[in-house]
Amino acid sequence: MTNSFNPSVRTLMGPGPSDVPPRILSALARPTIGHLDPEFVKMMDEVKGLLQYAFQTKNELTIPVSAPGSAGMECCFVNLVEAGDKVIVCQNGVFGGRMKENVERLGATAIMVEDEWGQAVDTSKVAQALKNNPDTKIVAFVHAETSTGASSDVKALCDLAHQHGCITIVDAVTSLGGSELKVDEWGIDAIYSGTQKCLSCVPGLSPVSFNDKAVEIVKNRKTKVTSWFLDLNLVMGYWGANAKRAYHHTAPVNALYALHESLVILKNEGLENSWKRHKHNHLALRAGLEAMGLEFVVTENDRLPQLNAVTIPEGVDEAVVRARLLNEYNLEIGAGLGSLAGKVWRIGLMGHSSRGENILLCLSALEAILSDMGANINVGAAIPAVQKALNQS
Ligand SMILES: *Cc1c(COP(=O)(O)O)cnc(C)c1O
Repeated sequence: MTNSFNPSVRTLMGPGPSDVPPRILSALARPTIGHLDPEFVKMMDEVKGLLQYAFQTKNELTIPVSAPGSAGMECCFVNLVEAGDKVIVCQNGVFGGRMKENVERLGATAIMVEDEWGQAVDTSKVAQALKNNPDTKIVAFVHAETSTGASSDVKALCDLAHQHGCITIVDAVTSLGGSELKVDEWGIDAIYSGTQKCLSCVPGLSPVSFNDKAVEIVKNRKTKVTSWFLDLNLVMGYWGANAKRAYHHTAPVNALYALHESLVILKNEGLENSWKRHKHNHLALRAGLEAMGLEFVVTENDRLPQLNAVTIPEGVDEAVVRARLLNEYNLEIGAGLGSLAGKVWRIGLMGHSSRGENILLCLSALEAILSDMGANINVGAAIPAVQKALNQS
């Protein structure tokens, strides 16, 4: 007898995926219909409109790529970069490194602008790189660096890129829905995100948006896009406004129901209210963590509300703590990556996970385990600090 798979019910407070609310899970279970069915096509148009709202853009090319955030990243690079191009890539964590990989695999040159992990992208270094490389075509950077919890100044970086005649590619996988993001107002040319972070949808889809300037570049390439699947010239035959909805690939029908539902939830809450909720809950988590004696990696002004990287008390094996949180409390938090591996925990408050009850669970569980392990923390201070912060408007 082969058994079905029945996962435990966890509370997801890591770097993603975040908790998927029952409403979205039940949307997945609705009847599968054809991906060219008129009802489905109507829903696709609604998804586009709702994504335009989430991204704060009027861009016609605003669609979910049928694959996870990494494919959205690849979609931006593979469509906009050609062999021989020069791309400035800002790296202040894991994901800038992946942008570099994308650029180099396309036969283009990546000019790296590096900052310490945990810091925002330094605009003055980018300005210098642009001066040194006047033939640069694209500036690429991560808005919300999930590996460290640092937020970078998208508007300033876009302004700078445009002053030098460049377009921008922005990674907003962790920022979309969780912190302020305004594609049109900030002048972002191409952007990609993911569904499993602050949208609290299931993993596996990647919303992207290209403005007219970026679309022109895609249409006027000297060479074919090297990926057939991600070639937007072809994908838009299915997703485009006046497209004949020609078959390109079978859309992930049920996953798109889930995305639709998550965007309806976001629209009904209101984008700004969602940003405010993420901030409010971040402040409550922070109050508790600091009362316990843990410290943030990122300076206050550059901190993301949805991803909190904090130090580990002296002498504590961080992996043991995470394993106990999972086994004893069904609670997942994230480990450090790269230069922060073994040095920090990453506590996510993304989308549906960003709730007061989760903060109270996380801090009481963390306190119980750390004090049981004899760690040097303040016992008894965190919960009152969280409650006080949650009650502040
Ligand atoms: C999660 C993440 C990605 C990758 O998304 P996947 O869905 O895991 O492929 C890319 N960039 C950032 C900033 C992320 O947090």
